[in-house]
Amino acid sequence: MGNRLIIRDGIVVTMNDQDDVHFNGTVVIDGNRIVDVGPTDEVAQRQRDDSATVIDARGKAVMPGLIDLHYHTALGKGWSDHLPLWEYLDTCWYPMIRAMDDEAAHAAALLSYSESIRCGVTTVNDMYRKLGALADAAEEIGIRAVLSNDIADAEHRLDTLEDAKEAHQAKHGAAGGRIEVYVGIEWLPLASEQLLRDARALADDLGTGIHIHLNESLTEVENSKQRFGRRPTEVAYDCGILGRNCIAAHCVWLSDIEIALMRETSTQISHNPSSNAKLGNGIARLPEMLNAGLNVGLGHDAAECNNSLDMFQVMKFASLMHRAARVDSSLQQAPDVLRMATRNGAAALGHETGELSTGRIADVILVDLQNQMFTPLMPRNKAHLYSHLVFAANGSCVDTTIIDGRVVMEGRRLKTVDEEAVLRNANQAFQRVIERMVVPA
Ligand SMILES: [Zn+2]
Repeated sequence: MGNRLIIRDGIVVTMNDQDDVHFNGTVVIDGNRIVDVGPTDEVAQRQRDDSATVIDARGKAVMPGLIDLHYHTALGKGWSDHLPLWEYLDTCWYPMIRAMDDEAAHAAALLSYSESIRCGVTTVNDMYRKLGALADAAEEIGIRAVLSNDIADAEHRLDTLEDAKEAHQAKHGAAGGRIEVYVGIEWLPLASEQLLRDARALADDLGTGIHIHLNESLTEVENSKQRFGRRPTEVAYDCGILGRNCIAAHCVWLSDIEIALMRETSTQISHNPSSNAKLGNGIARLPEMLNAGLNVGLGHDAAECNNSLDMFQVMKFASLMHRAARVDSSLQQAPDVLRMATRNGAAALGHETGELSTGRIADVILVDLQNQMFTPLMPRNKAHLYSHLVFAANGSCVDTTIIDGRVVMEGRRLKTVDEEAVLRNANQAFQRVIERMVVPA
């Protein structure tokens, strides 16, 4: 038996198929797997192991770690973010990531991953550059990371398919399988149809997935119609990009035909409502996507277009935006939003996480309920607890984060890195990159 961890006497929010909540519950972890979940008295009958480490979860909710399904490591939060998207990309985002070296990418990744872990995120689907440095940061800090490059046609001087292939060979399966490498396509305005076809061929060859931005803004849709004569998702479909192992981020401006193409190909969707709102990109047709049976998870996108990596905030946006836009308070109820941030995200990535059930991988968070966010709280009332988790809480309620059976944060202190050094190094890297970056005239 590996290291055993018993999380005892908490409110266990399983997110399983039956939506079980054990109001005095226990979760037992052995190595990186959950080996028992249930009411504390029943689990105590089955598990008699004095050598296990016990975490007292009284006054806390125990739930699956959150999955951030669309993510970019970031170093430029709040910098030039008054600009519209296209201009921002050309004068800030692309110059900044072109100026990124391994050391800066490593510092940026530790900054980003540490904020995510502090907000209860256990898995990031991270599209960025310098994947070797990102993988090292993920391994060091202990987060689960699916990494992909920013691949574009050569003239844009971002990443290439060859970069993805090399990163896959070097880092796919690293840290005991906690790190994976996908093929990442930046977006269609920087891609040819040939590049898209080659990306799918490479992903199939490597046996890995694809991460792409699709239908994010109206200007992207217009660009696609002009360059390809059809809409972005239609082009992606024709080039074989879509599929069960493709994560399509944003999907704000999908036509009915494009929703049907997503359905036909079982493509996974990352809904990123707070990024879409900040960048003025609009409101995704989430109710239609869900009615079509698409699997939709949630993502924060990037600190540059969100200014926070807090997935509790993203959950709240994922409900409120649609209610406001449709003048309908019945939309996106709290349990549905929680499922998007946990089990839907895990399903999108094909991971055995996202719910607390025997046999699942142990990515678990403890949420402190003894504060104003969770007060009042009716005892043994599931709906009340779900409401607070989605509408009242923010990431500061997360007390403990466990990833792959390992406690990486406890009592809001990261155990794997020196947080002061992470912040200091990120500040230095930011200033160095700003000095190096070349802004087109
Ligand atoms: Zn993005």
